[in-house]
Amino acid sequence: MMTSHVVIAGAGPAGCAAAIALATGGVRVTIVEPAVFPRHRPGESLHPGVEPILQKLGVDEAVNAAGFHRHSGCMNGWNGEPRFEPFGNDEAGPWLGYQAQRSRFDAILLQAAERLGATVVPDRVRRVHCQRNGHLSTRAVIHSDTHEWTADWVLDGSGATAVVARGHGVNVTRHSGPLTAHYGYVDHSATPRRYPDPLLQRDGKRWTWIAEVHESLCAWVTVQPGQTPPDDCPIELRGCPVIQPVRGCDVTWRIRDRLAAPGWMLLGDAAAVLDPASSHGVLRGLMSGMQAAHLLLTHWQQGIPVDDITQSYDAWLRDWFGRDVSRLRQLYGSSQTGEEVTVTPAAI
Ligand SMILES: Cc1cc2nc3c(=O)[nH]c(=O)nc-3n(C[C@H](O)[C@H](O)[C@H](O)COP(=O)(O)OP(=O)(O)OC[C@H]3O[C@@H](n4cnc5c(N)ncnc54)[C@H](O)[C@@H]3O)c2cc1C
Repeated sequence: MMTSHVVIAGAGPAGCAAAIALATGGVRVTIVEPAVFPRHRPGESLHPGVEPILQKLGVDEAVNAAGFHRHSGCMNGWNGEPRFEPFGNDEAGPWLGYQAQRSRFDAILLQAAERLGATVVPDRVRRVHCQRNGHLSTRAVIHSDTHEWTADWVLDGSGATAVVARGHGVNVTRHSGPLTAHYGYVDHSATPRRYPDPLLQRDGKRWTWIAEVHESLCAWVTVQPGQTPPDDCPIELRGCPVIQPVRGCDVTWRIRDRLAAPGWMLLGDAAAVLDPASSHGVLRGLMSGMQAAHLLLTHWQQGIPVDDITQSYDAWLRDWFGRDVSRLRQLYGSSQTGEEVTVTPAAI
């Protein structure tokens, strides 16, 4: 049994995946999360590629038992009239994605981490101080509103808050012009039109995603340059009772200039953000948490030096982000992408 201790800021998919993988490896884990679960997050549409990850985390049965709507592709209207595009299939049948209500999905992950022994503290991480003790050891001191912990490592799963990154003054580099996602939810049960497969449509520089989360809840997202909110929800959903009014979120493509250093690693959205057209923010959150945990376990079990694991993590996630940016640039053409700009944490 290891005595190593890791504190994780945030119980989103990234933080919970790291907690599950570390706790499974015998590491003492503390998750610090200010929100009371179940709490809402946008981002219900999960690609079928998430399934093996859920199996690896041991939550596939619980996720499947939650009864989330499954879809076999999307109605893609990016370049004209919407046409059905399947995810693919194999001998077992069509590959299916999930429309996972994030309040339930994230709660399943958090419960799995707790069952494996992770301690969950309802609090907000405020400050972190990390130092290296030689090649093989690090120390992190984490302050929340009411607690202070000493740990070997701190993992930043705080989403766009990026509390550890900001605390360490890590700059962010933007890879697109300013992009905002506006999103909302309506009850569409009284309308005849159904969306068994999400609908993607583009209108100039703006695109819209409509996805049926369940028979009486439809989610919509509109992404466009700048910050001006749309006047209304998509035309297809007008007149439906509003379940959650429109909210906006900065989805400018961006990545921190350093993703790991002795004592800390940035996970999920705390490390990098892309707009939802990349279609796998949750998957990247889960996989970054698992990769960080895997490298920490290798470091302790095989005596891999601290610098090797931080460099390996940085290169792995940066490479993934770079490939996603290239794909998105191809998708958009040159219309929405801008010059790369570095901004300091204070300016974010
Ligand atoms: C409109 C919209 C639609 C999207 N649609 C999709 C989609 O369909 N599919 C998809 O895969 N992705 C989608 N995404 C992206 C997806 O939501 C994110 O990539 C994903 O939630 C990132 O997970 P995370 O664990 O890194 O962070 P989060 O899910 O943001 O979790 C961060 C957690 O940290 C906590 N926290 C914050 N500050 C602190 C602090 N100081 N101390 C401790 N904890 C803290 C928060 O309370 C939260 O629980 C969408 C994003 C947007 C904005």
